[in-house]
Parts: sequence; structure tokens; C-alpha cells
Amino acid sequence: MTGPDHTSALGALLPDEHRRLLVGGRWRDAEGGATFDVHDPADGSVLTQVADASVGDAVEALDAAVAAQASWAATAPRERGEVLRRAFEMIGRRADDLARLMSLEMGKTLQEARGEVAYGNEFFRWYAEEAVRIHGRWMQAPAGGSRLLTIKKPVGPCFFVTPWNFPLAMGTRKIGPAVAAGCTMVVKPAAQTPLTMLALAAILAEAGLPDGVLNVLPSTRAKDISKQLQADDRLRKVSFTGSTAVGRTLVRQSADQLQRLSMELGGNAPFLVFEDADVDAAVDGAMLAKMRNMGEACTAANRFLVHEDVAASFAEKLAARMGALRLGRGQDDGVDVGPLIDEAAVDSVSRLVADAVEDGARVVVGGERPEGQGWFYPPTVLVDVPAGSAINAEEVFGPVAPITTFRTEEEAVARANDTEYGLASYVYTRDLARTIRVAEALEFGMVGINAGLISNPAAPFGGMKASGFGREGGFEGIEEYLETTYVALPGS
Ligand code: NAD
Repeated sequence: MTGPDHTSALGALLPDEHRRLLVGGRWRDAEGGATFDVHDPADGSVLTQVADASVGDAVEALDAAVAAQASWAATAPRERGEVLRRAFEMIGRRADDLARLMSLEMGKTLQEARGEVAYGNEFFRWYAEEAVRIHGRWMQAPAGGSRLLTIKKPVGPCFFVTPWNFPLAMGTRKIGPAVAAGCTMVVKPAAQTPLTMLALAAILAEAGLPDGVLNVLPSTRAKDISKQLQADDRLRKVSFTGSTAVGRTLVRQSADQLQRLSMELGGNAPFLVFEDADVDAAVDGAMLAKMRNMGEACTAANRFLVHEDVAASFAEKLAARMGALRLGRGQDDGVDVGPLIDEAAVDSVSRLVADAVEDGARVVVGGERPEGQGWFYPPTVLVDVPAGSAINAEEVFGPVAPITTFRTEEEAVARANDTEYGLASYVYTRDLARTIRVAEALEFGMVGINAGLISNPAAPFGGMKASGFGREGGFEGIEEYLETTYVALPGS
């Protein structure tokens, strides 16, 4: 299909009516009728226009969230959970349409997009179930006598900012627990990929989410909007997924109002392969950890640290698998790898590869941007990458696997930890004692042992150091949206 065909296909996936702001349950234009373009990364063409929220629109969205807060908090937990459950069922039925919409605006293959819809939707199922398990505790004071009671309450109106790489899952990971906890919210999706979030909001409305609980603001004015909303003492919580640089800005902006924060920021995941590893299994895991979402994932394996005894065989097998992947438009049959999100992404990946080569790395496969339209970069394997090369320090955010070797476990762990980030990490070994030692020594929020895919809605996803703080998923995920009041009671 060509670009214009895709544009017409959009009509069935997201009606014009919903390519606007959702404020207080009403779909409406932005102030002054402002719009911005959403592009197709496969050819750079304009897919559609979407309303471009102003700061004034954002204040109205917060007004709506504040107005809905008390009644939503007072809604029975079961009822809150059932809204999520209905949305879960509806998303399941519309999974193909949502996947197609996401693929169009983000570029990922339909298969990847379907995977994201299934994964993202599980947060709705999980938090539908968690809504009815919110509880405090009752205990006797250690000295006897008085009784201690804790009560859980929703934090209050939230502001969510989500990235373009997982347009649905990064939303459901926040919206699910917030809805379950009884919070209202204003969501600003990434300007590259607002359509999936708008489709999700329409589904939640249809599932019975009351007006004003979820307000959506597609906008190119993220900076001004976040400043304005964070200065407002009615806003009680900010949850952000995106780059560390923007996360730091939002943390600074939270200081005056002391907002609660969850920060899911960048990563620089090490992928350790020890000499006792099953190399074929490690290659399978590397394909998942590296190539999921074209490498545009905060959990993407970024630095391959491979024991020198198995490095040659690992590199050869990985290069064969990466080199066999077919690059193309995400909606086409037989395509394994879609385009990157934009020109800037291709430039950044190209620069890191060129710098590594200048530092002495060797390209085994890939490494050349293909001619023609679209923001494509081929799966690339680099070997002999010096430890100090920029590609080992910065997030690649693309389909590039830089391999360096190590000799000892101590060296491997020290190099893995030698990063400002601390999100995901991966370890391949068949030695149980080593598994425990290394998992304990790694300074990362998540460690995959002989597993290339670690995200799970029932587990606490999140990082440490410059990867941020707070957890999404699991029972930890709902705590981010709850306040605790302790009530001291006299004893009998
Ligand atoms: P980004 O930080 O540039 O943008 C993320 C979002 O922040 C977008 O919606 C953007 O419009 C908005 N934004 C930008 N400036 C803002 C400001 N001043 N105030 C408020 N919002 C602002 O990041 P990106 O390039 O879209 O996403 C890639 C980054 O996200 C990578 O670093 C990746 O590791 C990280 N990421 C992290 C996770 C995680 O869970 N840890 C998940 C996905 C992506």
C-alpha cells in the first residue's frame, strides 16, 4: 500500500471526531483550532492532523480532572475495576484495528503492534483485579494499648506524559492503576503518536469511564503545559515515561508543589553472556532483547558483554540472525523490522555507529542507512567495540548490537554497572551460584536470567539511578497512586 491508501484507512480506525482533545468527556478542538501533523515514518508523509492543545486547554483539562476527582474516588472499587475489565474485553476485540493504527503512526510491524496491544491490555486486566484489593492495615501498637489503623486513599488528579515507542502500553501502565486507585488524570501522549492514545480514550469512555476521569491532550507544547500544570496546587501526581533529560526537568518542576512522582526514564541495558551460557539460547534472547520494537525500547539490550571464549560464536550467530531480518513498511507482509520514529532517530543511530567505527569497532552486518524514503536503519552488529566508545555510554535506541568481550565475572559486573542508568539487565549463564551473585551485584531495577523479554504486568517495572524511580505493574504499581493516612486509636 502507498501512503495515501494508509491515510484513507485511518478513517475506519480513528474517526475525525476523535482526532481532537478529550476534555471533561467532550471531544473538542484546540483553542483557536490549532492542529499538528502526524507522520507515517515509513515514507515521511503526513497521515493526518490532530488538535494541538494549548496551555489554556491544559488548564481546562485539569479543571475537568479536579471536578471529577471526588466522585470517582467515592465510586466503589468493584465498579472502578469493572470499567477496566470492560475496556480490557473491548481492546481484545479491537486488537487488530488498534495494532494497525499504532503501526501506521509509529512504524512498528503489525506483529509487534499486536504484541504491544496484548501486553498493554494486560495492565487493564491486572488493575481491574487490583482495584478491589486496596487495603490498609490494623495492628496493635508494639507497647500494647493503642491500635494503629492505616487507610489508603487516591493521590488525586494526575498528569501523565507518555513516549512514542509504546503508544498504548506506556499509557495503560499509568491509566490502569490510576483508574483502579480512584484518581483522575490528564494525559499528554507523544506528539509523534497521539492516535493510539485517542483510540484508547474512546474505548475507556465507551467502557463507562465517567466524564473528566481521563482527559487527553495531544499537543506540541509539552514544555509549557507541564510547567503550567505542575505549578498548580490541584495537581497531586506526575507520572512520566521518556528521556532522563525531560524527567529531570519534571522533577525540578515538582518541587514547589511537592507533587508525587513516578519517573520511568532511559536505560542502557547490559546483556551479559558468560562462558558457561547456552550460546544459542543467548542469541535467541539477544534477538528479543535487542530487536523488540526495532531496538526503540528503554529495556533494549544496549551493550553486549560477552566472555572472550564464546564471543566469536555469539557474534557470528547473532549477525546471521540480524542480517536475515527484512526491513520495510510495518504494515506489509513478511517485514520483520519497521522504520525508526523520525529522521533525528536515524541520525543519532548513524552517528553512534560511525563514532564506534572510528574508535576501532568492526561492522559485521548492517551499518549503512538504506537509500530511499522513510526513516530506516538496518539491523547492525558491531564487534571489537572499545569499552569507552560513546555507543556504550549512550542509549542507542535503534537496531544496533555493539559487542565487547570480558575475561572475568568481576570485570563483567563492573562494566555492566559502569553506567549512569539502572533499568533492565540480562544475564546468560547456567551456573546457579553465579546467577544469584550477579543478580545481586547488578545495579538495575530488573534482571532477566536466561530471558530476553522481562516485562510483565504482574511484576514491578522500573529503574534506579538515572533510569528514575517508581514502579509500574504488580501490586507496587497501584501504590504509586495511593496516599496513606494513619489513624491512632485508643486501646481497650
Ligand atoms: P522524550 O523525553 O523526548 O519525550 C517523552 C514525552 O515527553 C513526550 O510525550 C514529549 O512530548 C514529552 N516532553 C518533552 N519535553 C517535555 C517537557 N519539558 N515537559 C513535559 N513533557 C515533555 O523521550 P522520547 O524520545 O519520546 O522517548 C524515548 C526515551 O524514553 C528514551 O530515553 C527511553 O529510554 C525512554 N523510555 C523509558 C521507558 C521506561 O519505562 N523507563 C519506556 C519507554 C521509553
